[in-house]
Amino acid sequence: MKSDIGRKRRVLVGLGSNLGDRVENLRRALSLIEANGLQVVRVSGLYETEPVETDEPQPPYLNAVAEISTNLPLTKLLDLLEEIERRLGRTSKGSKKPRTIDLDILWAEGEQIQTERLKVPHPRLWERAFVLVPLSEIVDELDGKSVSKAAQNLATQQQIRKIAEDQWFSGKKENEML
Ligand code: ADP
Ligand code: MG
Repeated sequence: MKSDIGRKRRVLVGLGSNLGDRVENLRRALSLIEANGLQVVRVSGLYETEPVETDEPQPPYLNAVAEISTNLPLTKLLDLLEEIERRLGRTSKGSKKPRTIDLDILWAEGEQIQTERLKVPHPRLWERAFVLVPLSEIVDELDGKSVSKAAQNLATQQQIRKIAEDQWFSGKKENEML
């Protein structure tokens, strides 16, 4: 693992929810990220997407991507994201069941990691319209590949529609700390 502890760098995080008050779940997740001292630099618009990679029918997701700035090592960042998932009532891990919140580390500036628990860049990043379409609002290219071209190709195969611009997250603070 390469991690440069102490250096602030950009990390891209994918958010999804298909249970409960979906917008509120996404907002609270970002507020909790900020409440723990990380900066939410930018968020994408909000997208409603049909579930993919599931065996059974599921309610549609709301998805977005956030650019955050942090000096946390990636494993510590995943610890925090999992803690926030639990805080927001996520019960099942590793199953393709409906969830109040899913927080995935998509990509980190200048860093890669390949362990059982954590793979960055996210291995299915380039296969998912629900990631690439919102991501294309934040970055043009990742690792020399055009995000918008890949997003456009996948958006013809996977249902996705924009339901809000980036103002859906106002940056309001969550008072409680983890
Ligand atoms: P998914 O996000 O694939 O729908 P889960 O959220 O249940 O499913 O995550 C399954 C596993 O993926 C977790 O146990 C986690 O340790 C692992 N994982 C591997 N790489 C990443 C990553 N980049 N971001 C978040 N979780 C990851
Ligand atoms: Mg996940």
